Amino acid sequence: MNEKTTTSLPVVLVFLGPPGAGKGTQARLLEESFNLVQLSTGDLLRAAVAAGTKAGKQAKSVMESGNLVSDDIVIEILRYRLTESDCIEGVILDGVPRTIVQAKALDTVLKNMDSQINAVISFEVDDNKMIERISGRYTCGKCGEGYHDIYKKPQKEGVCDKCGATDMKRRIDDNPDTVKQRLDAYHAQTKPLIAYYKEKSVLIEIDAMRKIDEISNSIELILHNLTKSIPQL
Ligand code: AMP
Repeated sequence: MNEKTTTSLPVVLVFLGPPGAGKGTQARLLEESFNLVQLSTGDLLRAAVAAGTKAGKQAKSVMESGNLVSDDIVIEILRYRLTESDCIEGVILDGVPRTIVQAKALDTVLKNMDSQINAVISFEVDDNKMIERISGRYTCGKCGEGYHDIYKKPQKEGVCDKCGATDMKRRIDDNPDTVKQRLDAYHAQTKPLIAYYKEKSVLIEIDAMRKIDEISNSIELILHNLTKSIPQL
């Protein structure tokens, strides 16, 4: 996926919320119906770690400890990814920005692409439930479909509903201690973004403690309402 484009991005949505809030699940559900691409810096960083790139080597131990990877690395990865041709219809940013520095850098990157953030959806959750939510989750190692021990079991245990593979994986940083650190990092460094985007009048808060389909229905409604200001949606 090295094809580059300098075209502007017609739709830029940001999903903001702590780990376990369901941002990735919702982004994947919306990708197809709205022709958008989910862009998760967590996924991009895990790919860099797996590929053993310089950025991946620097990020590995930071990610395993539950802290945030340096803004410079994240911004560089994001800047590159946004110019790839599959983003042409628009993107859902999942897990980025996570600091004010990243938010300001993103504003500049988008401005240079003649683009801007259309909406920031803030996933409001009960923090105490996040450890249970995260500790129970796993994904299909082949197609990436997400599952959960309690909330979303595959029809046949250990077999992916979507592609039939039997290679389920749990993330190394989805253990209670690291999750606690990730939640602390969220409160210290990411939560201030709520005020940042409120100030810019792009913030929409949703109750993300509901069932997966109820949450996606309300996000779809928000996006349909946005079509007046974003005709491409
Ligand atoms: P996630 O998949 O979004 O839960 O991210 C997993 C880990 O990747 C985080 O705990 C961070 O160490 C790192 N990470 C992902 N996105 C960012 C970001 N925007 N800024 C800093 N670190 C990030």
